[in-house]
Amino acid sequence: MRFISTRGISESCTFEDAVLTGLAPDGGLYVPEELPDFSIDTISSWSELSYEDLAVNIMYPFVETEISRKSLKEIVKKSYAGFRNSEIAPMLEFQNNSWILELFHGPTLAFKDFALQFLGNLLDHMVESRKEKLVVLGATSGDTGSAAIEGCQDCQNIDIFILHPHNRVSEVQRRQMTTIKKKNVHNIAINGNFDDCQSIVKRAFSNQSFLKGEHRLIAVNSINFARILAQIVYYFWSYLRVGCPKDGIVYSVPTGNFGDVFAGYLALKMGLPVKKLLVATNSNDILHRCINNNDHSPKKVDVSLAPSMDIMISSNFERLLFDAYARDANLIRDMMSRVSTAPIVLTNHALSSIRENFWSYRSSDDEIVETIKAYFKDFNYMLDPHTAIGMSASLEYLKSCDYPIVTLATAHPSKFPEISNHTLLERPELPTNLRFILKNTEYFSILNNSQLEVENFILQKIFH
Ligand SMILES: *Cc1c(COP(=O)(O)O)cnc(C)c1O
Repeated sequence: MRFISTRGISESCTFEDAVLTGLAPDGGLYVPEELPDFSIDTISSWSELSYEDLAVNIMYPFVETEISRKSLKEIVKKSYAGFRNSEIAPMLEFQNNSWILELFHGPTLAFKDFALQFLGNLLDHMVESRKEKLVVLGATSGDTGSAAIEGCQDCQNIDIFILHPHNRVSEVQRRQMTTIKKKNVHNIAINGNFDDCQSIVKRAFSNQSFLKGEHRLIAVNSINFARILAQIVYYFWSYLRVGCPKDGIVYSVPTGNFGDVFAGYLALKMGLPVKKLLVATNSNDILHRCINNNDHSPKKVDVSLAPSMDIMISSNFERLLFDAYARDANLIRDMMSRVSTAPIVLTNHALSSIRENFWSYRSSDDEIVETIKAYFKDFNYMLDPHTAIGMSASLEYLKSCDYPIVTLATAHPSKFPEISNHTLLERPELPTNLRFILKNTEYFSILNNSQLEVENFILQKIFH
C-alpha cells in the first residue's frame, strides 16, 4: 500500500517509510492512498476470531508489501501479550443499546497502549532487517511517555529518551515511567516546564546531525500512521461483540488529538457500518465548535479534569479535512499554514461532508463530575474523567438514536485518582499487579533546561 502526504509535496511512500518518517517532509501527515474494503459478510465471518487474529486480518492489507503475514502475527501477539484481560478489549452492556469498550487493560492503563505496544514491536522489526538503530525521543506531561516506554523497553534496536518536567508530573504517571529499569530506557527530568521539554525535543529533531548519522531519530506521537492503524482494530472488534448489528452502530470517542476517532473513520471507510462517530471534547472544544458552528478558532489551552485531552489544535484533524476537501493538498497546505494562529472557516460542502459521519459534544468539568457520580450510583461502575466525557455524549445522542452506541473507555479510573477530590467517591485503586510502582526505586536523570546538555546525554548513552 502507498501513503501520500496531506500537503501534496512529499512523494508517496511505503508503509515502512511512512512509519519511520512520522511527519512527512513537507509538514503533512501520511494517509493511505486507498483503503481495503471489507463486505459485511466478510466482517461477520470474523466473529469467532481472537483479538490478535482479527488484528492481523485488518492490518495485513496495509503492510503486505513489506511485512509477511507471519511476522505481522508475531508482532501483534507480542504487543498484546502483556494485557491484563484475556479478551484484550472487553465489552460491557449497561442498558439497552449502551456499551462500554474497555481499552485500559494494557500496561499503562490507557488506550494508548494499543498503539504504542504495537509501534514499539513494529519499529524493532523494521530496523532489525535494515540493520539500523533507532532513538525514540519524546516529551510528555503524562500519558504518552509511559505508554511509549512500555512499548519500547524490550526492543533490541531502540533506545528511548523521554523528557518530563521535573516535579510537575503526577506521581502515578511519573512512577509508571521511572520504575522501569532497562538499559535502553532513559527518563530525563528537565528543570523546566512541559513547553521547555517540548522545545528541546523539537530542536533535536531539526538538528539531527548531533547523532552523527549513526542512528535515526524518531517521534512516536499520535500522527504516526502505525498508531492509527492499531486503533482501527477495536472498532471492528466491538462491532462483532455487539453481534454485528446490520443497521449500523455508533461510537463515542473522548477526543484530544483526533487520532482515536480518526481510526474509527477509517474503519467506516473500510466497510464497517458506522452510523455516526461522536467527537466528545472537554472544555478545550475547538473540534466541537468546528463541527457544530463552523468555528475552528484557536484559544488558550484550559486545564481541565481530563488532562489527556487538553489540546489547542488537534493535529490529526488535518487528515479528515484532506478528505472533506476531496484530497486537495494545495488547499490543505494553505489552510494549515495558519491553523494555530487564525480561525479556519470550512466551506458548506466540506462541513456537511464531515457532519455526515461526525457529531460532537462538549463536557464541562462540572458535567464530568456529575456523569461519574451518576454512573457510580446507577451501575456501581467507576468512569475515569475522559471516559465520562464520552459517556455524556452517548447519553445525549441516545435520546434520539435507535442504534447501539459504544463508548470508548480510554483510561482506567485509577490512572486519574485526583478526580475523587471532586466526586467525593472513594479513590480508585491501581490494579494489584501495578501497585509495585508505588514502592519501587525510580530511575531518572535530572538535567538543566539546556539543548546541549540533553543532546550530549543522549550521545553518551547510545555510544556507551
Ligand atoms: C490520549 C487520550 C485521549 C485522546 O485521544 P486522541 O487520539 O488524542 O484523540 C483520550 N483519553 C485518554 C485517557 C488519553 O490518554
